[in-house]
Amino acid sequence: MTFSWLLLSVCLLSHLVVGVKDEFPIGAIFTEDTVELETAFKYAVYLHNNNATHARFRIKPRVDVVKNDDPFEISQKLCQQIEQGISTLIAPTRESIYDTFASYTNTFHMPFVSPAFPQLSTERPSRFGVSMRPNYIRAIVDVIRHYKWKHIIYLYDSDDGLLRLQNIIQLTTGNYKMRLSVVKRFTNVSDANDFLHSVEAHDRDSVKHVLLDCTSEVATNIVINHLRDIYMGRRNYHFLLSSLIVDEYWNSRVLEFGAMNVTGLRLLKPNSPSFRKLMASWQFLDPIIWPGAGLKNIGSDAALIYDGVNVILSALSKIIRGPSPVDFYIGVYKNGSKGTVCDTSYIRAWDYGYKLTSQLKKTRLSGLTGNIVFDGNGYRKNFTIDVVEMTFNSEMVKIAEWTDSRGLELVSPVYKRVKQDRGFENKTYIVTSILEEPYLMYKKPDPGEVLEGNSMFEGYCKDLAELIANKLNLDYVLKLVNDSKYGGQDPNSPAGWNGMVGELIRKEADMAIAPLTISEVRERVIDFTKPYMSLGISIMIKKPMKKKPGVFSFMNPLSKEIWMCIIFAYVGVSVVLFLVSRFSPHEWRVEDTFLGPTMSNDFSLINSLWFSLGAFMQQGCDVCPRSVAGRIVGSVWWFFTLIIISSYTANLAAFLTVERMVTPINSADDLAKQTEVEYGTLMYSSTQEFFRKSKIATYARMWEFMNSRKHVFTSSYDEGIKRVRESKGKYAFLLESTTNDYINERLPCDTMKVGRNLDAKGFGVATPLGSKLRDRLNLAVLSLIENGDLARLKNKWWYDRSECNTGGSGDSSQNELTLGNVAGCFYILIGGLILAVIVALLDFCYNSKVEATRAKISMIEAMKSKAKNSINGTHPTNNGRLYTPASDQMRSTSAHSGSLNLNTHTQV
Ligand code: ASP
Repeated sequence: MTFSWLLLSVCLLSHLVVGVKDEFPIGAIFTEDTVELETAFKYAVYLHNNNATHARFRIKPRVDVVKNDDPFEISQKLCQQIEQGISTLIAPTRESIYDTFASYTNTFHMPFVSPAFPQLSTERPSRFGVSMRPNYIRAIVDVIRHYKWKHIIYLYDSDDGLLRLQNIIQLTTGNYKMRLSVVKRFTNVSDANDFLHSVEAHDRDSVKHVLLDCTSEVATNIVINHLRDIYMGRRNYHFLLSSLIVDEYWNSRVLEFGAMNVTGLRLLKPNSPSFRKLMASWQFLDPIIWPGAGLKNIGSDAALIYDGVNVILSALSKIIRGPSPVDFYIGVYKNGSKGTVCDTSYIRAWDYGYKLTSQLKKTRLSGLTGNIVFDGNGYRKNFTIDVVEMTFNSEMVKIAEWTDSRGLELVSPVYKRVKQDRGFENKTYIVTSILEEPYLMYKKPDPGEVLEGNSMFEGYCKDLAELIANKLNLDYVLKLVNDSKYGGQDPNSPAGWNGMVGELIRKEADMAIAPLTISEVRERVIDFTKPYMSLGISIMIKKPMKKKPGVFSFMNPLSKEIWMCIIFAYVGVSVVLFLVSRFSPHEWRVEDTFLGPTMSNDFSLINSLWFSLGAFMQQGCDVCPRSVAGRIVGSVWWFFTLIIISSYTANLAAFLTVERMVTPINSADDLAKQTEVEYGTLMYSSTQEFFRKSKIATYARMWEFMNSRKHVFTSSYDEGIKRVRESKGKYAFLLESTTNDYINERLPCDTMKVGRNLDAKGFGVATPLGSKLRDRLNLAVLSLIENGDLARLKNKWWYDRSECNTGGSGDSSQNELTLGNVAGCFYILIGGLILAVIVALLDFCYNSKVEATRAKISMIEAMKSKAKNSINGTHPTNNGRLYTPASDQMRSTSAHSGSLNLNTHTQV
């Protein structure tokens, strides 16, 4: 015994003297799916053994790889390692194998370092263990609270996940109330994606907050699958990952498929000196020798293993340098020479297990994962976690910092736009479009010219494509969409969409340059640039025949009511004039008649009517009121007629010349109110989608009408326009204002737009989701708008090509009055003349009768005699009486008594 002590002391001395390094065996157990962790372990050991010239010991790794998390296999390997002799154990643990590790290490007093202990570990502690991953559940809760998420979908794939959820719920106290809308355990990546698919099918519109509890690798795959699934909304999802992630890795892997809202927690400190130092060599390692290495980044768990090795190394070196190094050297594991029997009947724990474990827990290091300090239970404290966020447009960037002492502290994020790959100019891009005037049309070749490729087409979109291609310096080939549709949801089409939208989704085309409307449903499945043209839904109807002005259109300047009022005013004024003239003595005068002096008054009822009529017609007459009252009546009537006639004259020209159009439909309301005129939209178009989704009562009613009569939908614009032209005003077409305006300017000029636009939207250049061209296209479109190129194109294809003369200027014949305009006046003139003749005849007959009675002759004789006098020019005297002896006698009497006033002109 004394001899052996002596021998040992000599050996130790010889070691110290000649500098031979001691080897400390470290056991490591990995599973087949933790290759990167194994590499990180081996590389950390390698660096130590080869680099540490001044280190006083070497590490002898004993590595075992088990097939899966089988506790039996693990316990066998563990036993073998304990029997061979190890000083510390390092191994990743999961819920299913944690117990095995905990009980063995507790039993054999084996220091145990793990990248992470599972959640349950607090109840079943590994007394000799340290967990490299801190407990950061509070950080998750604080992030959720920061986002103010109310409803959360919780997806997890292990028992640990459920326990973590319990912790999260317990920690969400106070004012903030979080509700779990779904909690679902998934078995693999596709199971999780299928589940999200069903959530989306159930409710496409709401915003979904998904908390993913699984490894970073599984979470990455779920997000990538989500991005690749064109059915899934991107903008309405926000994932929060409970596992620790490496943003660099996310940026490089996920951005290939596009970006979306993902928030994660990062423990790695990419800017720390130790991280940079490791990466300087890690990324150049040969992945065949070092599987999992050779990349620009290292996974969180691998980094934790690497840090774990450094924690062990630091503890070992402290012990060696400590006050009792000799004790340690003479332990049973010295130089890995001895182990212990892994047998339950005889348990011999390692003498230095406690010592090494307590040294492990006292470690203070700055590693890849920041500050490394442990509490008494082997959990990390004083650590910092970065909260990183990827948004729809930005790469993953740091938005906040979480520390166990201070909680969440926001930082100002520097968002980085998603980078696009360079070198895309070398490709020939397929541009899908649709034949639609004036956007894209076949070009008529000049005689002898053969058109092929892009030159076969012309139109606004062709010019736009050309401008964009020049700006981006790329080649393109124009292709017509196979099914001649814009793009709508169609269960019978592959990918659920038809038209240009479907082609983009299926990546059959690289972009669509067409009158494709930007809409919410489409934006979910394809990307659009900013709008290059603004428009709205409008109504097209057949132009009604112009209404010719009627023969009595000279009546139109004043309404019927005014005419009625004028007639009443005329009669009223005449009656008032008559009455006031009766009462006023100034209107009476003495007149000598053959019967002697008589009182006479000019303003009989008939004369009053005649005076008023004369004034109204702006003519005047011989009688004029002399009384003040009569003059007042006359003045107000003249004033009245002055205004009325001036207003009438002012309007007259317009009413006589303008041929007015009477449109039966003037707005969407007019359409909705009736069923006689049918109306419809283009099938599978954004217009149809607008009505389908509209909550405005009028449009919803219109959708019901259209949906119940499927024949009102058309398969092309041409069909709709033809229907408008041919259905004699019984069909109205709902289409976009730009096309409406264009068609109305085309021969036969028989359509018109009525009412204002129903909405406001725009056409955009579309690309598949996540296309590398998107940002450049956007900039190109904006610059074309700003430099006026697009306005020039609009003029070229819309206004310069007008075929209809809608301006109304230039053709002077349009303002000329035709006979039809004034025929009514002629009718009145003729009518008046005829009336005058009839009245004259009646007057003649009446006088003949009176004469016949007086002269006691027959009426025929009296008429003959009167007619003879009329023809001979013999002027009848005495008020038209026949010349008879009696009348002669009468004349002499009258001559005697003064002149008889025969002025029939003023006395009726
Ligand atoms: N430009 C349209 C579309 O994108 C056609 C329409 O909505 O009328 O579907």
